[in-house]
Amino acid sequence: MSELISYIILQGQLNTVTSMYLGDDWQIEILPFISSSMIRNKMINLLAKYYGKEINNKIHTCNEADCFLCLLFGLSGHNKRLIIRDSNLSDKNKNFQKSKNFPWEFKLEGNHLIKRIPPKVLFDVEFVYRIFVHNKDEGIRDCKNFKYILEGLELIEEDYLGSGGSRGSGKICFSNMTLHKFRYLNTIDISVASGWTIEKKSEGSGEKLARTVCL
Ligand SMILES: [Zn+2]
Repeated sequence: MSELISYIILQGQLNTVTSMYLGDDWQIEILPFISSSMIRNKMINLLAKYYGKEINNKIHTCNEADCFLCLLFGLSGHNKRLIIRDSNLSDKNKNFQKSKNFPWEFKLEGNHLIKRIPPKVLFDVEFVYRIFVHNKDEGIRDCKNFKYILEGLELIEEDYLGSGGSRGSGKICFSNMTLHKFRYLNTIDISVASGWTIEKKSEGSGEKLARTVCL
């Protein structure tokens, strides 16, 4: 039985760099949001490919006790570490107001008119990471695995989100990423991916995750 000892909350914005296509089923009257399953499935898929892990029928399973992918996403019977919230339109959008009609972009593909989220739209993202004790390690294993979340975000930036990536849709980037820690975790316990650093912010406002890459 694993003991849940802490949470790390990672918040920030997802920015559309190119237009993003959510599929034909999306009703035009409904404000767009990025579903957690869209981000989750993409992260699993890209991290599995990047680390040469097997995917069968779009699901990764394995017998490794310490597989970071199974630990992060609760696969193969592990406790789920990563919770991803649905991402709604941010109040930080400057190009339009949430209360008004959303400025969908329409594009003719063949004889088919598709609607896309235009570039420069911001969504609020939140990732909740749960830290469990493993063999009295005080959560060290999970803290070390935190870096894979950041790598997963980077892989999505390099790849695409939504549909039509090979036709130019779905380039995004993450910005203003801030860490909020709970309980007794120290910043020093948390491993971040290369290219990321943790910057101290003022008391109570979390710690900023800074990096060099973002368009
Ligand atoms: Zn695995």
